[in-house]
Amino acid sequence: MRALRFNAPFDVTVVDSPMPVIVDARDAIVRVAATCVCGSDLWYFRGDNPRDAGSVIGHECIGEVVDVGTDVHNVRVGDFVVVPFLASCGECRLCRDGQLQSCIVAAEAGIFSTQGAQAEYVRTPLADGSLVVVPGGRPTDDLLPHLLAISDVMATGYHSAVAAGVQSGHTVAVVGDGAVGLSGVLAARMMGAERIIALSRHADRQAIATSFGATDIVAARGEEAVAEVLALTQGIGADAVLECVGTEESMTTAFGIARPGATVGFVGLPHDVVAPIGRMFRHNIALAGGVAPSRFYTPALIEAVLAGEITPGDVCDRRMTLEELPTGYVEMNERRAIKAWATP
Ligand SMILES: [Zn+2]
Ligand SMILES: [Zn+2]
Repeated sequence: MRALRFNAPFDVTVVDSPMPVIVDARDAIVRVAATCVCGSDLWYFRGDNPRDAGSVIGHECIGEVVDVGTDVHNVRVGDFVVVPFLASCGECRLCRDGQLQSCIVAAEAGIFSTQGAQAEYVRTPLADGSLVVVPGGRPTDDLLPHLLAISDVMATGYHSAVAAGVQSGHTVAVVGDGAVGLSGVLAARMMGAERIIALSRHADRQAIATSFGATDIVAARGEEAVAEVLALTQGIGADAVLECVGTEESMTTAFGIARPGATVGFVGLPHDVVAPIGRMFRHNIALAGGVAPSRFYTPALIEAVLAGEITPGDVCDRRMTLEELPTGYVEMNERRAIKAWATP
């Protein structure tokens, strides 16, 4: 089969790779119908996070189950599934509590996420607890990007809104205009936010934010952005803030625009971030969130896509063949594409 192999920073190529096989009775093999590049794949691409040379990269996909291990009972060969990036058993104490990101069984097995999804086939661990069957079988092609987005960015954006405690009627501010931030805008709309302020400097991303429900766009950054959001909120800040970047600047901005008593929902992987504990204490501002238990939200998000209520795949703005997908890394790294995706 063909697959994207990570060779070294700035060097990802499509190569012939061995077909994945069942190695654990709880595995399934999925023929990939659509896959995409994650913002976190770019950390490897840029060399910011180390990765072994020679591995097949990618953790976001949807597709058809073509083989299952002997201990898989909830999904069958022929099922069309969303593969949440996070692997979880669905049955342990923490999974039952909704804390799938900390699944005890996955931790014991040394598994965090599906690996090698930018390929024609992928092995998915803990298939029973992880995979979510799409009702009705393989969807029409126009739905593929929307279901694909659920495998990570939409679930992650949704988690930021849940963590921030977004409620009907809220004024919500979203820091970050990548695929996750834009998904956070959509999630805030789903939860009934009355006003959604998207912080975005790029015209193409502003357009998607607006189509997803943003009512105000703030193009400034840093202290200027804080001043603009405060001006839009009678000087007190937003009721809920979604932090979807993970840098010191984005976190500082998020706390700067959070009103007293608000919660900042953070899902951007923190890179050298220190929370402003003084401001948090002085104004009773909470910080909540972390890695999204993506599987937890997946069934409801699939229903919303199939019902035509949301189109989260609008963030997948660059469609390619699998052979072309290495170019997607370059385009995303240069911020010429929001999210590159391919249909192998
Ligand atoms: Zn991802
Ligand atoms: Zn578990």
